[in-house]
Amino acid sequence: MSFNSLGLSDALLKAISKKGYTTPSPIQQKAIPPILEGKDVLASAQTGTGKTAGFTLPILQLLSQGKHLSHRPIRALILTPTRELAAQILANIKEYSEFVDLRSAVIFGGVNQNPQAAQIRQGLDILVATPGRLIDLQNQGLVSLSKVEILVLDEADRMLDMGFLRDIERLIKLLPSKRQNLLFSATFSKDIKKLAMGILHHPVQVEATPENTTVDAIIQKVYPCAKEKKTALIIKLITEGNWKQILVFTRTKQGANKLTESMIGAGIRAAAIHGNKGQGARTKALAGFKDGSLTALVATDIAARGLDIPLLPHVINFELPNIPEDYVHRIGRTGRAGASGEAISLFSPDETVFLRDIEKLVGLKLPKENIKGFEPDPNASTEPIKQGQGRQQRNSTPRKPNTDNSNRSGNNSFGPRRPQQNNDRRSR
Ligand code: AMP
Repeated sequence: MSFNSLGLSDALLKAISKKGYTTPSPIQQKAIPPILEGKDVLASAQTGTGKTAGFTLPILQLLSQGKHLSHRPIRALILTPTRELAAQILANIKEYSEFVDLRSAVIFGGVNQNPQAAQIRQGLDILVATPGRLIDLQNQGLVSLSKVEILVLDEADRMLDMGFLRDIERLIKLLPSKRQNLLFSATFSKDIKKLAMGILHHPVQVEATPENTTVDAIIQKVYPCAKEKKTALIIKLITEGNWKQILVFTRTKQGANKLTESMIGAGIRAAAIHGNKGQGARTKALAGFKDGSLTALVATDIAARGLDIPLLPHVINFELPNIPEDYVHRIGRTGRAGASGEAISLFSPDETVFLRDIEKLVGLKLPKENIKGFEPDPNASTEPIKQGQGRQQRNSTPRKPNTDNSNRSGNNSFGPRRPQQNNDRRSR
C-alpha cells in the first residue's frame, strides 16, 4: 500500500515524501481512512508504530479542508502525558504541515507560560498539550477550547497512570459536545475501556500490535542477578558487548542517578532522564543519546514514555517495573520498524512477583540465562520490594500517579488540584 491510496492531499504527500516515508505503517493504513471520514477511532498502538503520523496526517487534512476562521480558534486538541511526547508530536506536525496553512503550538509545564500564552493569543489551529498546563492556562482565561472539532488522547493509558483522569474529564467538559474523538493507548485496562466508552461514539477500532503482547522482533532475556551485583553486570554487558546505544530503565529517580554515576565512573557516557531534571537537561540528554555522544540513557518509566528514539538495539531493565504494562512500554523502545532488538531484564529475587505479573500479561515465560559470577544467592529472600522503593501497584488505592520518585518531597498531592501549585508537575 502507498500513501497515495490513503486519500491524503498532495500537500501532505509532499511532506511525507520529504520525510522519506515510502509506505504507511500498519497503524497508519488502518487509522488514516476512518479519521479522514470523520469517525471516532480507538487505536491500540505504542510508540514506534508510526502512530503519531497516523493521527496527525488526517487531522492536518481535515483542518486544511475545513473552514478557516481569521482569528484561528483551536480546532484540534492533542493531549499527551509527557512534555517530551508533546514536543515530539509538535515537531512531527510542523514537518507534516510544511505545505499547508495551519498553525500549531505545544504547551507543557515546567517552563515559563508567557511565550505559550502569547502563541495561543495569536491564534492556533492545533494545540498539543499536557493536561496540567492546559488546565492552568484555562483557569487563567488564557485559552478557549470552545471551537475544538477534534480531540486526541495520546498514550491514554499513561495519562491515567499519571493521575490525569480528573484533568481530562475537566477539559472534556470545556469542549463542544459535537466533535471527533481519537484515543490511542498501548494497553487496554478496564480503566481505559471505561474512559473510551465515555468519550468515543461508535469508534472504529484499530490495532497495530495485539493487545498487551510484546513485539515478535524483540528478543527478550532475563538475567537472574544478585541485587548488589546489578551495577557491575550492566557495566560488563555494555563494555564487553561494545554496545553503542542503550536505554536503561530504573524504578526510581534516585536509582537512575546512582546508576548513571556508576556508569560514568566506569567510563560509559551516560545521562539520567527523569522528572527531577529540568527541561533543558532532559532535552540535552535525549539529543546526546540520539546523536551518539551518549551511550546510555538511564530513565524512569514516566520520563521515557513516548520518547522517539528510532532503531534502538538494546533496552535493559535494570529493575523490573512493578506495573506489568510498563514492561511492554519499555521494551517497545526496541525492535522498531522491522529491526530486531534485544530487551534484557536484570532480575533479582525480590522481583519475583513483578516477573510473574509480567509473564502473565505478555503470555510468555521469559527465558532465563545465568551469567557466571552474578547469580543470586539461592536462599535470597523473594519478598517484594517495600512500598516507597518503587511505584505503587496499578490497582492499589488510593492510586498515586507518580510515585516512581521515592526522593520526591512535598508536592505530590493526588487529591484535587491545588490552584497555585507547580504547573503540570506530573508531566515527566
Ligand atoms: P511514532 O510511533 O509515531 O513515535 O513513530 C516512530 C518513528 O517512526 C518516528 O521516528 C517516525 O518518524 C517514524 N515513522 C512514522 N511513520 C513512518 C513511515 N510510514 N515510514 C517510516 N518511518 C515512519
